[in-house]
Amino acid sequence: MKKLVIEREKLKHNIDIIKQLARSGERAAEIIAVLKGNGYGLDILKFADFLIENGIDFFAVSEVQEAVFLRENGFDNRILLLSSTGIKEEIELIVKNDIIPTIGSENTAIAVNEAAKKFKKVVHAHLKIDTGFGRFGFLPDEMEKVASLLKSLDNIIITGTFSHLSFSFAKDRQNVQIQFDKFLKSIEILKQNGIEPGMRHIANSSAFLRFSDMHLDAVRIGSAFLGRVAVENVYGLKKIGYLKASITEIKELPENHFIGYANTYKTAKRTKTAIVPVGYKDGFGVEKAKDIFRWIDILRYIYHDLKLFLSSKFIYVRVNGIRAKILGRISMYNIVVDVTDMDVQIGDEVILEANPILIESSISREYV
Ligand SMILES: *Cc1c(COP(=O)(O)O)cnc(C)c1O
Repeated sequence: MKKLVIEREKLKHNIDIIKQLARSGERAAEIIAVLKGNGYGLDILKFADFLIENGIDFFAVSEVQEAVFLRENGFDNRILLLSSTGIKEEIELIVKNDIIPTIGSENTAIAVNEAAKKFKKVVHAHLKIDTGFGRFGFLPDEMEKVASLLKSLDNIIITGTFSHLSFSFAKDRQNVQIQFDKFLKSIEILKQNGIEPGMRHIANSSAFLRFSDMHLDAVRIGSAFLGRVAVENVYGLKKIGYLKASITEIKELPENHFIGYANTYKTAKRTKTAIVPVGYKDGFGVEKAKDIFRWIDILRYIYHDLKLFLSSKFIYVRVNGIRAKILGRISMYNIVVDVTDMDVQIGDEVILEANPILIESSISREYV
């Protein structure tokens, strides 16, 4: 038995802080909740429901399938697809399902317009400007061309314009400021050429928490909901998510006995151990390289191992509420925990710190 537990109260606490901060800029910014990666691992449907209950009803996702999945499950809110796609089948799905596409290239703009005509719709879209990330979006020096392109496409209305920051967690503000200035300048040129930008947004969680003057009309928030941000947590956001599992085996090992792959740990004395069926395969003990979601298991393994080796630290879990060490390497399906001198039984509860986005989506999410 294992579950990923999400505490409603903490999640609500974070949402309240975020709502309050979004109101505190020059003017109130709308919150766009980013639900990519199965809602940052919180279960996209349960998380979306919870957000709506708490007054947030504008969503963004990275993949067309995520947006369609929300529609299929009855969500009729605004859903922004953050990626720009030029694939015709995807664009038709977007248009049919009233998803807000991101227009990041001429090719996509034309294809969206064609699909809109075909389905006799006028599509609301957000325009993407590449102010330095080098991924989706038009370059700032293309704005005049973009304006005339958009004017030629009758079935698209621009309801928003946005950009994405590449280094919002950097120590200084400089990188962000450069992108921010380019963004506002690009919007100015669009306006001069007869295109209204609609809702302007550039801030992700880090920029949102650090620079209230960059909130503009909307902010795109993901990791801040989980209280797992790459910048200093000055607003008291709470960490969301822990794993709950049960001990499957208990045994005694003699002194000088190795534990786990590569013999990285050897008992110093007689040691009572408990085996807990949680491992890399579940996404446990996997560190998140910033903004990278799925890495191959090998890479997870090496990174994690190296980090522990260099710091000679242990990872701790809680067994019946008491802190206990993981001994040796985390393996694919199991960990070994030191329960020497502890009163434990098979089936007892173990709590493990876990970042939901890394936890296998096959593990059930329990909102408590
Ligand atoms: C993931 C993502 C976000 C949210 O980022 P957080 O730092 O988790 O808040 C915002 N915008 C875009 C384009 C994204 O891909």
